[in-house]
Amino acid sequence: MRIGQSSDIHRLVPDRKLILGGVEIESDLGLLGHSDADALTHALAEAVLGALALGDLGKWFPDTDPKWKGVNSQIILKEVVRMMDEKGYCLENADTLIMIEKPKMAPHIEAMRRNFADAFQCSIDQISVKATRGEGLGFVGHREGVLAQAVVLLKEKE
Ligand code: MG
Repeated sequence: MRIGQSSDIHRLVPDRKLILGGVEIESDLGLLGHSDADALTHALAEAVLGALALGDLGKWFPDTDPKWKGVNSQIILKEVVRMMDEKGYCLENADTLIMIEKPKMAPHIEAMRRNFADAFQCSIDQISVKATRGEGLGFVGHREGVLAQAVVLLKEKE
């Protein structure tokens, strides 16, 4: 068994899409970044890299590389899952958290879990996605940005 964790932060700005967990969510503000800026998917992918001691996401998917400009982060996650598979591991479970002031995440959580279960080719009950508000405090509460966190447990393939 190997454990991994990560956090990711992206700035909230006008005229950008809000994509979290591969789900496009209606919002007046969206996430700024080189890719689609899906902070939740980035945290999850980097937690898997962490469990494998393969370094951070930027090492494998540099934001200076035009190849990753505007890319759907599910593609990045699937690439990380391929690396995990190559190393002889599969997912036991993942627990993730989105910190965002608004809009409400609850209507989108199941679709995010399905996207992640699809990327890992695992059961949806191995994937947890949770959300919390910033209660008006700090950069999350002031809607300056979004913070996402992920913890994963990997097990050796039989
Ligand atoms: Mg990121």
